[in-house]
Amino acid sequence: MLDCRDLTFHYDRVDPGETPAFSFTFRLDPGECLAVEGPSGCGKSTLLGLLAGFLEPEGGRLAWQGESLLECPPWERGMTTVFQEHNLFDHLPVWANLGMGLAPNLKLSGDQRRRITAGLAEVGLAGLEARLPSELSGGQRQRVALLRALLRGSPVLLLDEPFTGLDEGTREGLWTLVNRQQAAGAAVVLVSHDRDDIEALADRRCRLEAGRLVDVPVLV
Ligand code: ADP
Ligand code: MG
Repeated sequence: MLDCRDLTFHYDRVDPGETPAFSFTFRLDPGECLAVEGPSGCGKSTLLGLLAGFLEPEGGRLAWQGESLLECPPWERGMTTVFQEHNLFDHLPVWANLGMGLAPNLKLSGDQRRRITAGLAEVGLAGLEARLPSELSGGQRQRVALLRALLRGSPVLLLDEPFTGLDEGTREGLWTLVNRQQAAGAAVVLVSHDRDDIEALADRRCRLEAGRLVDVPVLV
């Protein structure tokens, strides 16, 4: 279980009253998807940054399966984040962007190469292995980013509005892939404004308001 309790944080150098101090509490079981809704600027990306370890909380507890994560750097947390943008390495072709998630030195096994090829076909990008990110549309880049996260198979998936700007057919295909990852035991935190995304993926949903998660079903 992902156990997040009173995880507190505030940004320095902001006008008083403009940005709230954040304090997040929720629990999430393996295989579950929690959707976090809220208007732009309410702190959704901040929440994911704290979970992933890109931001350092001032206090509170964050644990996965009973083990505290707060001392772990981002790459040792068993989490993969799909950011809103700028997910890819611009100088690397698609296959290497995907391969980085599997083998950072890019020495890929035959099986890993086959998984990349099959994954690209599943997200509708068959044959684009050699393209650079600059040679893809925004939606195609986002699909590569999501595929990279899914190929890694991390226990926890953090998705920051990952389907924005994608057409409905593409989104449905990606929902299937995320659902499959959940069925394999991944816990997913999905930040989204989109009702269809939330209905397709979320087991539970809550809102982020005034720096807190509210209406979290099954609170600790
Ligand atoms: P959301 O993802 O919900 O749109 P964010 O988590 O990005 O919101 O931002 C929450 C609030 O924190 C906003 O008011 C934003 O302006 C502020 N903020 C975000 N990043 C920083 C930063 N690095 N320094 C100061 N304030 C920030
Ligand atoms: Mg955001």
